[in-house]
Amino acid sequence: TVETRAITKRFDGSNAVDGIDLAVREAEFLVLLGPSGSGKTTLLRMIAGLETPTSGEILVDGRIVTELPPRARKMAMVFQSYALYPHLSVFDNIAFPLAAQRMQRDAIAQKVDWAATLFGIAHLLARKPRQLSGGERQRVALARAVVREPVAFLLDEPLSNLDAKLRTSARDELQQFQRRLATTTIYVTHDQIEALGLGDRVAILDHGRIHQLGTPQQVYEHPADIFVATFIGSPP
Ligand code: ATP
Repeated sequence: TVETRAITKRFDGSNAVDGIDLAVREAEFLVLLGPSGSGKTTLLRMIAGLETPTSGEILVDGRIVTELPPRARKMAMVFQSYALYPHLSVFDNIAFPLAAQRMQRDAIAQKVDWAATLFGIAHLLARKPRQLSGGERQRVALARAVVREPVAFLLDEPLSNLDAKLRTSARDELQQFQRRLATTTIYVTHDQIEALGLGDRVAILDHGRIHQLGTPQQVYEHPADIFVATFIGSPP
């Protein structure tokens, strides 16, 4: 489980994240939904260890990790841009986190093969990122995320660079992988439809605070306030 306690991030005198308490359950798919600037990415980056909180704590499986560097947290972050290494092959991109851990070559090859097969990209291992489609790049980024068998996936709008048609199928696939792997997932989006379709629960943020946290049905049918109702587009 991943937990935040009164987590706050202050930039230039205002709170981008304003005292958020969040408890993500084991194997849960939790979506952080909110408009641009609501603090979603900042919250995710603090959980990943890429941003230092101004105050508050982050816990993983009950242990405080607030001071730990990103690698020690055993979480895998997938960025909107995928952040693949352009000069490395697909194989080496996926292998990168394992090579950084000094894993044996044979073990690395096995893991890469497993992850690439899982995402249907085993035939692309020799290519460079620029020789791939957007959907294929996304799969490489996901394969690189799963290869370390992380305690959690942190996904920041991983579908936003795909065209509308591909996005729907990629969303369904992502959900299936998450169910199959049963890895706790925190997923950031500003897209209500994506959030309601993907999340076991959805947290709706605005101005660095959570307005409501509930199942898609709860937030849609019983919005906690006007902001949630308007943002979700709940029926009046
Ligand atoms: P988007 O959907 O546009 O990515 P978001 O909900 O992820 O938005 P954040 O990126 O977390 O929002 O930003 C929250 C607030 O913090 C914004 O007002 C933003 O301008 C501010 N902010 C984020 N990063 C920094 C930074 N490094 N320095 C100063 N202000 C920042």
